[in-house]
Amino acid sequence: MAGKPIDISGRRYNRLTVIKIHSRHPERGVRWLCRCDCGNETTAWGWEIKKGKKKSCGCYGKEVRKSQKYNLKHGMRKTRFYEIWAAMKRRCTAVNNPLYKKYYIDKGIMFSPEWSKFENFKNDMYEDYLNHVKEYGEEDTTLDRIDGDKGYFKANCRWATRQEQSQNRKFTKEA
Ligand SMILES: [Zn+2]
Repeated sequence: MAGKPIDISGRRYNRLTVIKIHSRHPERGVRWLCRCDCGNETTAWGWEIKKGKKKSCGCYGKEVRKSQKYNLKHGMRKTRFYEIWAAMKRRCTAVNNPLYKKYYIDKGIMFSPEWSKFENFKNDMYEDYLNHVKEYGEEDTTLDRIDGDKGYFKANCRWATRQEQSQNRKFTKEA
């Protein structure tokens, strides 16, 4: 390793924010002290951070493994039904999306706490979903709120075709 290392302190890579040099190694270069988004501190080689080999203190990998296990369990990760559930959650939580913020978050549109768990959403909505799909097809089965001023919970949700949905909503389609 020749020359002066590039100072990457203060930069952010994935979940890691580089704080300062931790140590130097004659062949492997600089090891940096970093703070992870979760609050932990960790050290890593510069190349590891920059190439994304190391994205976090280890918490990210743990989360991925946990969700992989979870996906194996219910086996629906790649299904449209699962994506509808995930999109619903995004609409109510993604404050960085101006559209979601305006039409959902600022209006106080939320999903019921039970539905933060996929299993509960599935228990409440999957049977009707399958029935609707049978009749109208997957593409034309969207999650609709009966009262657009209210949030996502069982009594206020139904499956609707895109046409029904747009009649019910001045805004955009919700699936
Ligand atoms: Zn972490």
